[in-house]
Parts: sequence; C-alpha cells; structure tokens
Amino acid sequence: MPLVKELTTKNIDVLDLEKNFKSACVDKDFVALVKNLKLEPKVAIKMTSKLQRAIEAEKECQNCKGFFMCKHAYPGHLEVPKRKDKKVYFTYVPCKYQKQVFEKEEKLNKKIYIKDIDTQDKKQLEIIKWMDQFYETYDVSRNKKGLYLHGSFGSGKTYLLTALLNELEINKNVSIEIVYFPEALRSLKEDFDAFGYKMHRYMTVNILLLDDIGAENVTEWGRDEVLGTILQTRMDKKKTTFFTSNLSITELEQNLSISKTSVDKVKARRIIERIKQLTKDMELISENRRK
Ligand code: ADP
Ligand code: MG
Repeated sequence: MPLVKELTTKNIDVLDLEKNFKSACVDKDFVALVKNLKLEPKVAIKMTSKLQRAIEAEKECQNCKGFFMCKHAYPGHLEVPKRKDKKVYFTYVPCKYQKQVFEKEEKLNKKIYIKDIDTQDKKQLEIIKWMDQFYETYDVSRNKKGLYLHGSFGSGKTYLLTALLNELEINKNVSIEIVYFPEALRSLKEDFDAFGYKMHRYMTVNILLLDDIGAENVTEWGRDEVLGTILQTRMDKKKTTFFTSNLSITELEQNLSISKTSVDKVKARRIIERIKQLTKDMELISENRRK
C-alpha cells in the first residue's frame, strides 16, 4: 500500500525535524536568528539545518585569516538568510576578504599620497616615521630593504605603503608596482600570454609591493615558480620589495608549507629566508578602519 507507506515516512520526517529543531534551540545564536527573522515555528522547523549551517559558517569567518582558510561551498562568500515579504531566502554575501578584492580596483584608481595620510592613529606612527626616513633616503642605486608589514585587518597597511610608493613614483621618478598578490596569481595562471611580461615587470621594477601575501590559496606553482622566482631575482638585482599580510612571518611559513612534508617545509623556508633578506619585519595592529 503505497499511500500508507508515504504517510508513515512523512510522519517520521516531521518528527525528526521537530526533534532537530528542539535540540537546535539549545543554541542561543539559533534562537536569536529565528527571532530575528521572525520565523514561525512551523517554518523554522523545516529550515533548522540550513539555519544551523549559516550560524556555523559565520562562526568560521570570525577566526579566518584569508581565502586559504575558507571551507565554504562558495569560497569567499557566506550564505546568509534574509527575510523578504514573509519569506526567507538565502543569499550569498561576500566576506571581508572577498570585499577587499572588489575594492582593489577602486583603490588602485584612486591614488593616495603621503599628504592624504592622517596621523591620528598612534599605532601607525612608528610605520610612518620609518616611511619618512625611507622616502628621504631612497635612491634607485641604493640597495634598501622594504618592509614585511603584517597585522590586523583594516589597520592601514596597504594604505600607508601605497601612499609611500605613489609619492616616490611621482616625486622621485621611481618605477613602482602595487600587486594584489592573490589576484595576481589568479591572473598569471589564467592569462598565459601575459605571464612573461608581467613576471618581467614584477622582477625588475624599482619597488614592488606584494599586497596581502598569504591570503591566497597557495599552490606549489604559485609558491615556487611565481613567488620564488620573483623574490630570488629581486634579491639578485638588489631591488626593494614590500609586503603586507594578515599573517606574521611564522604564520606565513606554515601557510606556504602546503603538504607539510619535509620537502615542502624546506621550500617554504626558502621563501621565508628570501623575504627576511628583502625586508624589515614590522607589525601594525590597530582598529579596523574599513567600515
Ligand atoms: P589593511 O591593508 O591593513 O587591511 P587598509 O590599508 O586597506 O587596511 O586600510 C583600510 C582603510 O582605512 C583605508 O582604505 C583607508 O581609508 C583607511 N586608513 C587607514 N589608515 C589611514 C590613514 N593613516 N589616513 C587615512 N586613512 C586611513
Ligand atoms: Mg591590505
């Protein structure tokens, strides 16, 4: 009797859903979300597992340091429940790292110079002083170390170094390149025709800023063929290189050690050694000004 069978399975399903809903209600975040969305219990019961997943995903984002850590189905995005006209639907919202990618072009078009920097943030002062000194003494013929500037998200790392480089370009005729590293890797991989000249540019420009290193999903190719080659050449040519990162140099080393085998660790170490030769390590931890 198919009908009886159907009814029975249906009942079991409903009971299961109710049970799941009840146990989900132990979590105060879950209850808050249901309240927030003004869901009727009948609807909430059906959506329990999807709502739980959304809460879980948001928690994962709180400790995330970049794309390489993202395990979401649609990397760089969060599936967020929204309510519209009495209905709940799920929409993909870009995470803070993804937003950074979107902002990048906008930022590159809008050139910032040293005069634009405000000096209210005391945490930035040490960096600004260092930059002042660098600006005064930089000369293309001198072998000067750049910075490995790491620290919290939105603290001004990219902003400060971009202003310095733009200023050098316009006033001292220095050739500069500001490269959003995760994006650069992606485009080097996709556009093979451009690979040669882009790499040449990255290797030879007077000052290179590799922005947001460590945020990418690093591959052996990206690490050894791209990053390794760029850094080795810049060392040989005595060119200044800057980095910004959300990761400390130790964390970056772990990030670059992809498979954690000993060969891999050696390769990661080699990159780190080059970065250390090229830069002075500085930290900038401050409020997030990206609002
Ligand atoms: P990070 O690279 O550390 O994640 P950003 O450099 O992108 O952060 O800084 C975030 C935003 O904060 C910038 O886009 C800029 O608008 C603002 N900002 C940071 N520092 C300054 C500063 N000294 N003067 C003016 N604006 C700043
Ligand atoms: Mg940045």
